[in-house]
Amino acid sequence: MLGRLSEGAATVSKIDFTHEANARSWVAGAADHPDFPVQNLPFGVFSAAGSLPRCGVAIGDHILDLAAAAGILPSAAADVASSGAAASLNPVFAHGAAGVDELRKAVFSILTDASRHDEVTPLLVQADACEMYLPFEIGDYTDFYTGIHHAENIGRQLRPDNPLMPNYKYVPIGYHGRSSSIRPSGVDVRRPLGQTKAPDAATPPVYGPTRRLDYELEMAIWVGKGNSLGQPIAIGDAGGHIAGLSLLNDWSARDVQAWEYQPLGPFLAKNFHSTVSPWVVTAQALAPFRVAQPARADSDPAPLPHLWDASDQAAGAFAIMMDVRMRTAKMRAENRPAFQLSKGSMTAMYWTPAQLIAHHASSGCNLAIGDLLGTGTLSGSDKASMGSMMEISLGGREPIGLPGGETRIFLEDGDEVVMGAYAEREGFRRIGFGECRACVVGA
Ligand code: MN
Repeated sequence: MLGRLSEGAATVSKIDFTHEANARSWVAGAADHPDFPVQNLPFGVFSAAGSLPRCGVAIGDHILDLAAAAGILPSAAADVASSGAAASLNPVFAHGAAGVDELRKAVFSILTDASRHDEVTPLLVQADACEMYLPFEIGDYTDFYTGIHHAENIGRQLRPDNPLMPNYKYVPIGYHGRSSSIRPSGVDVRRPLGQTKAPDAATPPVYGPTRRLDYELEMAIWVGKGNSLGQPIAIGDAGGHIAGLSLLNDWSARDVQAWEYQPLGPFLAKNFHSTVSPWVVTAQALAPFRVAQPARADSDPAPLPHLWDASDQAAGAFAIMMDVRMRTAKMRAENRPAFQLSKGSMTAMYWTPAQLIAHHASSGCNLAIGDLLGTGTLSGSDKASMGSMMEISLGGREPIGLPGGETRIFLEDGDEVVMGAYAEREGFRRIGFGECRACVVGA
């Protein structure tokens, strides 16, 4: 007899007709859209002029109003879509991965069937005329530290002899963040105030605006299915708990962080504002872009059994390219385009997203729909793929040259940071995440 498929294996997304490269939507401009062709169909929360926030699906430069579409969808999908008459995706994803998949397939069908043009067109709105919101009501936010090159780069600056702590290769390191200060792309970031310390021990700390404001390039992993308190999630089932991904900028005040982080980890240096991109690219949409987790070095320990699953190692990572651009006030005034600071892959994670879910719940901690797990800063192994300014400028020692003659070691007021991401693979249509953008304003 064949072994029972674990729940996780049964719910891990599969490649199906919604991923066919030749599929085209009849919505004008969607087929050529760099991020949102019909193969993607990310979920988000929007409001059109005069209407309340509600759930929608992006198609090209348009948004399909889910609750409004319920009336023309087959009954199983309509049931899920009607939950979209809410200001968060939580009730939509409460139908489970199978329900969301059913809805995504039905939306794909009406957006690719030209005979549905006349009945669907009134349910579409222009995205640029809409306001976007946080996609989920976020109960809890946890930020991990899975970018091993980032951990080594930062560790070397703080502890030259001992960059990685001895727990790093056994424990997915993380801390509980602050969900109340997460904002969607486009909301300005006010420079935080905080305590900072001069390098010499004798000088007391001062309170004032941070002078070392930084960004962190991360992916947001959205929890689509929770667990009960006291009931850990088996690693083989953990992948099925992931709703999808967005981009995350974990703004960080490095001078505040350096003074406060021992012994309990980051606190005010990272709780003043975090930015997420508003579209959730679903686990289903990302099925073609699953890849093997990069092998650990032979000298690294194996993960403990409760964090190890062969199928997760074989296909639990995501081949997603991420980049960071910035534009200063002077660059905007001179009409210069944003300058790319770095570009790298999400496979810089030392742990898979399923390992993060399994570890988080391994104590019996209860995760819930809409919880957000940050990956940690994802830096590659070279300078062109470093995901924070602290790494690129070597802690402020090497200024970064910008077009127009300016330099930066950390962010100044008026600087705008823009993150993007996409997945592509031979034989499939490229899909993207849209933007995670915000501008720094003075304290
Ligand atoms: Mn972070």
